[in-house]
Amino acid sequence: MIEATVGEGGANRADDVRTVQWLLLRGGIEPGGIDGIAGPRLIAAIRVAQDRFGIEPDGRIDPGGTTLTRLRAAPARWDGDSSNWPQERKLASLHPKFRPRVVAVIARLRAERFRPAIVYGWRSVAVQDRLFRAGSSKVRFSFHNAQTPDGLPAAWAADLVDERWYWREPDAHVFFRALGRVAKAEGLVWGGDWKFRDWAHVQGRPNGDLAAVRRQSGA
Ligand SMILES: [Zn+2]
Repeated sequence: MIEATVGEGGANRADDVRTVQWLLLRGGIEPGGIDGIAGPRLIAAIRVAQDRFGIEPDGRIDPGGTTLTRLRAAPARWDGDSSNWPQERKLASLHPKFRPRVVAVIARLRAERFRPAIVYGWRSVAVQDRLFRAGSSKVRFSFHNAQTPDGLPAAWAADLVDERWYWREPDAHVFFRALGRVAKAEGLVWGGDWKFRDWAHVQGRPNGDLAAVRRQSGA
């Protein structure tokens, strides 16, 4: 799960730091960012977690150590709405093979003077279940819910709007048409092409992959 020590005096490999940042956030402790950088806020957050677990706080997390074990076992406390996350966190919540393509779509849309914003990147299975029961989503598990076997975000879908219009017509449609064109040029699937139009939705895998992604997600 992590390969080397993270935090105070640690090796702080970027991938390991990101993993620890997600684990802290999932446990309800704000790590500062999901950026792979071990700064003072991350070390302070590790100390908060250790204090909560009754572990002498040293601000570091070792592979196979007690703090890591406790963090992984802690119940998820992020069933709040991830649509409220900052944009960088929403981007960080996308699968590493999907994220650069969304970044490219956003850059192309900005070059066309749009103001693209991600509404949903990853969202938890619990939030998906709420949307499903409210009739806002047709499925219990979507590509938005894809995660690592440890339950950390790795979404294969993102919903993008223009921050001036969101879903407000008629302007929104100008944006969604551009989104569809640009997303498909990046090899993505666009929800606007579906029978039940999902204008803001782009995904990095075909619908036929959903069962496999769900299995890998342990959901
Ligand atoms: Zn979507």
